[in-house]
Amino acid sequence: MPVQPEISVVIPLYNEEVNIEALHNALINSIDPLHREFEIVFVDDGSRDRSFELVKTLSSKDPRVKGISLSRNFGHQVALLAGMQQACGDIIITMDADLQHPPEVIPQMLDAGSRGYDIVNTRRIDGKGTSHFKKLTSRCFYRIINRIADITIPEGSSDFRLMNRKALDSFLQFGERDRFTRGLVNWMGFRQTVVDYECPPRYAGKSKYTFRKMMHFAADGITAFSARPLRIASYMGFIVFLLGLAYAVFAVVQHFTGRTIPGWTSLLVTVLILGGIQLLGLGIIGEYLARIFNESKSRPLYFIKDKTT
Ligand code: UDP
Ligand code: MG
Repeated sequence: MPVQPEISVVIPLYNEEVNIEALHNALINSIDPLHREFEIVFVDDGSRDRSFELVKTLSSKDPRVKGISLSRNFGHQVALLAGMQQACGDIIITMDADLQHPPEVIPQMLDAGSRGYDIVNTRRIDGKGTSHFKKLTSRCFYRIINRIADITIPEGSSDFRLMNRKALDSFLQFGERDRFTRGLVNWMGFRQTVVDYECPPRYAGKSKYTFRKMMHFAADGITAFSARPLRIASYMGFIVFLLGLAYAVFAVVQHFTGRTIPGWTSLLVTVLILGGIQLLGLGIIGEYLARIFNESKSRPLYFIKDKTT
């Protein structure tokens, strides 16, 4: 009969075969000396490589390793949720598979947890591991979201986090589909603290967050916590309408004073600007509409295709 684990480490995998063994070793090295019962829950997010076979092999050698395999790629945030739902521990730690979330920080996070914090977030101190592009896009994103959304998320936040059972059970009540875990956790309240860590480069392989996935993630974060883009669209519409009205009066006056000229440039500029603003406004509405549409279908968030025994 396996012992009930006290700590569950949840790790989503998407084509991470090159990292799994190193990660497993690093985790054992960091957690074993603490003499606490733990389990490692791998969630294979529809990998096309041998990730899940490796998890199965590891699990047969080390009974503390468990794994589920999702029926296809559902994305990092959903994979995280799937793993959190599987976790049995009183303390749950979520982290990435590429060793950019260093397991050596875990004892520090557990420490903070034992000082009475329900949620221990982490903050990435940009080290050599973060590319200039990632630093720039991440900084822009946090500036924007903190300005327009109803929550505040510190720069460098990630989903490397500890939660106790009370916080996790509350978190699992969120039924949202386009999930922005960082925002949801911030919104939850409870006693939260932050631990800093330096982010090393990816151990092996390439980032699984494509530019498209990053943009989608950013849009999820903003639309989930703010209706301000919709308001900005209507303000823009109003301002452009006023400018248009003034220009129309000007055009009519010009007409009656007989000073009309061919006016190719002014026509083109007006049509382009108006068209652009209309499309932008429609796009913003569309982003919200698509999310309402997604929610309204209430489909299951994921399916599990395989499990370790
Ligand atoms: N990931 C996932 N599904 C995806 C994309 C990523 O489960 O569709 C996992 C990935 O395997 C890793 C974590 O999410 O464990 C973070 O991804 P990555 O390291 O590629 O992101 P980055 O560090 O570049 O932001
Ligand atoms: Mg990474």
